[in-house]
Amino acid sequence: MYDKLIFEISKPGKRGASLPKLDVPRQTDLLPAALRRTSPLGLPEVSEPEVMRHFVNLSTKNHHIDKGFYPLGSCTMKYNPKVNEVAARLSGLADLHPHQDARDTQGALRLMVELAEALKEVTGLEAVTLQPAAGAHGELTGLLLMRAWHEAQGHQRKKVIIPDSAHGTNPASIVTAGYEVVQIKSNSEGLIDLDSLKCCLDEDVAAMMITNPSTLGMFESHIQEVSEAVHKAGALMYMDGANLNALLGIAKVSAMGFDVVHINLHKTFSTPHGGGGPGSGPVAVNQKLMPFLPGPLPVREGDKYLWADSGPKSIGRVGGFYGNFGVMVRAYVYILMMGAEGLRQVSERAIINANYIRALLEPYYDLPYKGRTLHEIVFSGDRLKEFGIKTTDVAKRLLDYGFHAPTIYFPLIVHEALMIEPTETESKETLEAFAQTMIRITEEARENPELLHQAPITTPVGRLDEAAAARNMDLAYKGSKV
Ligand SMILES: *Cc1c(COP(=O)(O)O)cnc(C)c1O
Repeated sequence: MYDKLIFEISKPGKRGASLPKLDVPRQTDLLPAALRRTSPLGLPEVSEPEVMRHFVNLSTKNHHIDKGFYPLGSCTMKYNPKVNEVAARLSGLADLHPHQDARDTQGALRLMVELAEALKEVTGLEAVTLQPAAGAHGELTGLLLMRAWHEAQGHQRKKVIIPDSAHGTNPASIVTAGYEVVQIKSNSEGLIDLDSLKCCLDEDVAAMMITNPSTLGMFESHIQEVSEAVHKAGALMYMDGANLNALLGIAKVSAMGFDVVHINLHKTFSTPHGGGGPGSGPVAVNQKLMPFLPGPLPVREGDKYLWADSGPKSIGRVGGFYGNFGVMVRAYVYILMMGAEGLRQVSERAIINANYIRALLEPYYDLPYKGRTLHEIVFSGDRLKEFGIKTTDVAKRLLDYGFHAPTIYFPLIVHEALMIEPTETESKETLEAFAQTMIRITEEARENPELLHQAPITTPVGRLDEAAAARNMDLAYKGSKV
C-alpha cells in the first residue's frame, strides 16, 4: 500500500502559489520557436497545504537520524547539530559560484584553509587536500599519490596489501588505481598477522592499506611494527580513516606510521549521509607525498587567502572545482563548536557507548572477536540459526520497532555479522531500548520464527526481493504527461 502520488491528488485549476499580476509586456519571442514548449508542462496542480503535507508525510516514511537510532556500523550515523545547517545555508556561503574570484571569496577560502589546519592537527600529518568528494574518492586519490611517489623514486610497483577485514571500497580503489590486491588473513584475534604480512612484503608491494581501528572495531595494537616492516620493504602505509570516531584527540595517524589517510567528513564530522550523499573525503599526507597533491590548494599569504598552484609533480585535479563545499562548512562548524576538548569527548563517549552495547548484548549474541571494543562492535547471529533465523531477519524485525538495522554480513570474516555503531550522540536510554529490542528478537526467534521471516510488517513497504529491487528499479510515474 502506498500514499497517493502528488499527481493523483492533482485537480485542474488548483494553485499553490500566488504571483502578482504581470505589469510589464509579456515577451514570448525571446527563445527561438524550435526551443519553445508547445504543450503544457504537466505539473501536478495542488494547494500549498497539500504540497506541504505530501512531502512531510513522505519524509517520515524513510528512517533517518532525526527520527530515530541509526546504528549502521562503519557509517557513523551521528546526529547532525542543526547549527551546522544554519551555517551551510548562509547565503554568503551557499550562493557562491566556483568561478568567483579569490578576492570575493576570502571567507570561503579561509574556511577551507582552517578546516585543513584542523584536519592536520587531528591526524598529525603535514598537508591536506579537500578535493575528493567521498571516502572512496579519497582512497583513489591517496593511491594515486603513492603511485606518483613510487614513480618519482624510479621503481614501478604492482601490488597493494589489505587485510581480509578490509572495507569493500579498498580493493575496488586499489584496482581502479592500477594495482593488484593482495589479501592477508587476520589472526585468531582478528588483527593483522605480522608473519603473514612479512611473507608477502617484496619489491612489488607499493603499499599496505589498513583501517584502524579495524572494521571489527578493534585497535591494531602492532601498528607501529606493521608500519616499520612495510617501510623497510620500500612501501608506503595508507590508512582508511573514513571513520576516526575512536581516535579524535586520543591517537594520531602520523604516530602510527601512516604516510597518508583519507577522512570522511560526512561520518566523523557529522554531515548526514543516508541515501548516498553528499560526502567529502579529504586526504592528509606527510612531507613525502606533499609535492604530488591535487591542486589548486587554498593557502594563506599574510592576511590574504588565495589559490596556489600545486606544482609540476601534482597528480592533477581529482574533481571539478574543490570538492563538496557544503560538507566542509558543516565539518568546520562542528569542529569549532566542539573544540579540542570536545572532540576528545566525542571519541571517549563513542567508545563508552559501543562498550555499553557490548555489555548488554554479549549474553545473547556471539562475539567471535573478543578484543577491546572501540567505537563499534561486531556480533554474530549464528546462535539463532537453530531456529531457522538469519541475521537478515533480525535486521528486518528491528525496523518494526523503529530502529534502523545495524550493518549486516560485514566484515566478511564474521559469520552472520551484525555490526553495531551507536556513536556518541545517543543517550543511555536509547542504547538500553535498542538492546532490549535485540534481546526480545532472540525470544521471538525461539517462539515465533515465522514472524521474523515476514518482518518488517509495520513499514510502508514490507520485505523486498533485494536483488530484484536493486536491478529492476521502478522510479518513474507512468501517468505523467511530461
Ligand atoms: C564509509 C567507508 C568508506 C567509503 O566511504 P564513502 O564516502 O562511502 O565512499 C571506506 N572505508 C570505510 C572503512 C568506510 O566506513
